[in-house]
Amino acid sequence: MSDKKVRVRFAPSPTGPLHMGGVRTALFNYLFAKKYGGDFILRIEDTDQTRFVPGAEDYIIESLNWCGLNPVEGPGIGGDFGPYRQSERKALYRKYADQLIETGWAYYAFDTAEDIEKLRNEAEANKETFSYGIGTRDNLNNSLSLSNEVVQQKLAAGEAFVIRFKMPADTDVTEEDLIRGNVTFNTTKSLDDKVLFKSDGMPTYHLANVVDDHLMEISHVIRGEEWLPSMPLHVFLYKALGWEETKPRFAHLPLILKPVGKGKLSKRDGDKLGFPVFPLEWTDPKTGDVSRGYREDGYFPEAFMNLLALLGWNPGTEQEFFSLDELAEVFSLERVVKSGSRFDPEKAKWFNKHYFQQKSVEELAELFKPVLAGKGIEASEEKINAVVAEIKERCEFAADIWEQSFYFFEVPTSYDEKTVKKRWKENTSGQLTEIASLFSSVETWNADSVKASFSAFMEEKGWGFGAIMNPLRLSLVGGNMGPDLFVICELLGQEETVSRMKLAVEKIG
Ligand code: GLU
Repeated sequence: MSDKKVRVRFAPSPTGPLHMGGVRTALFNYLFAKKYGGDFILRIEDTDQTRFVPGAEDYIIESLNWCGLNPVEGPGIGGDFGPYRQSERKALYRKYADQLIETGWAYYAFDTAEDIEKLRNEAEANKETFSYGIGTRDNLNNSLSLSNEVVQQKLAAGEAFVIRFKMPADTDVTEEDLIRGNVTFNTTKSLDDKVLFKSDGMPTYHLANVVDDHLMEISHVIRGEEWLPSMPLHVFLYKALGWEETKPRFAHLPLILKPVGKGKLSKRDGDKLGFPVFPLEWTDPKTGDVSRGYREDGYFPEAFMNLLALLGWNPGTEQEFFSLDELAEVFSLERVVKSGSRFDPEKAKWFNKHYFQQKSVEELAELFKPVLAGKGIEASEEKINAVVAEIKERCEFAADIWEQSFYFFEVPTSYDEKTVKKRWKENTSGQLTEIASLFSSVETWNADSVKASFSAFMEEKGWGFGAIMNPLRLSLVGGNMGPDLFVICELLGQEETVSRMKLAVEKIG
């Protein structure tokens, strides 16, 4: 590590909800900053006005908050390097574009969108792809091919232009990527003359990104693999702007792959296989389509962070469970892998189950109370806690609590037909009626005492346990689920237990 202070940024564009791959990028930046006592910064890259989506920035900020990845500088937070929204920095980019023109690293291009479209179509007809750059720029409508006089006339007349980077011909650019090692690109083979400044007065991603990383004194650029092809252009820009000495170091994170098949994990995989790909639920402002979120699906942020950390990084040990603080201690870019890592939705649930089981009964009860309130159910704190303690082990998600415990709060309105057919014999109603009156006479009502009187009674009668237990459970629960029957009796209370038994006899018998 150099002695430059570690400053990293998460730089999303507010073009929609944040994909979980984006959250992982934020997480790795956050962990890196924490590990080295550095700063984690949020910068909103909103220079592409055509792709702006209302609500996306708030969504990004809320997602980071939910995940516990709190930036120390950013929009709404402040900091010495602001503003942190590129649209609010608009005025400062032009001078860098002009500087690049003056030093011969960039040029004006007056070609219209239609001109370019035409060239593209012509190339396509010849089974080629058009690229604005080394082989073509001298014949196009720009300040390299036109005389200075004509260029000045066009500018004075207010003709629309863009500013393009002038990629040097046939040069090898090698730059170290902290995950991949040295990466070499050849300019003629792979690099065209990218637009740096657009006709709407806004910089493009490339210019704004490099200028801001420089001005914000970013030490390390940690971002997704899809930006690796942009690295050589960025390296040239640092050089062209005279900032080579303080250029950040780069690390490009591997892709998160589909659970099955080839390619990058997409929202469609989530829809198909039934898991979220976004941290929070998102409603598309145009179509009204709702996409599910980890938060709304009942994941704990700790689980979400833990599972994301292990997508592309490993601790080099067998340990699988990590808090954010523990991750910050052991995280290193050296242990981030180059190849993509496959997302496993079952493993994600497994992580959640772990964190669910770690929670205290009281914490889980707090999550459950609003569910009960939403259903208009009133229950004592004591009962809620006791129920949660009883069924906790069977759950992975907060929503499972209701699925596993509804019968403690609602009288069964129907009885599982299969069980009725199989277990409710001719004499069952009579037997249950007798047991109900036995239960009415039990003096101290708890699982042990109910069990003791029940067993003594069964023995005296010579009735088989097996024949009674299932119908009894059916009458209390409505099906054959749930914990120990006598525990259910205790939690329901004497009156409720007896009344449910009578009701079942009435309805089934
Ligand atoms: N605005 C880019 C994005 O949306 C940032 C890429 C980078 O980190 O340089 O991912």
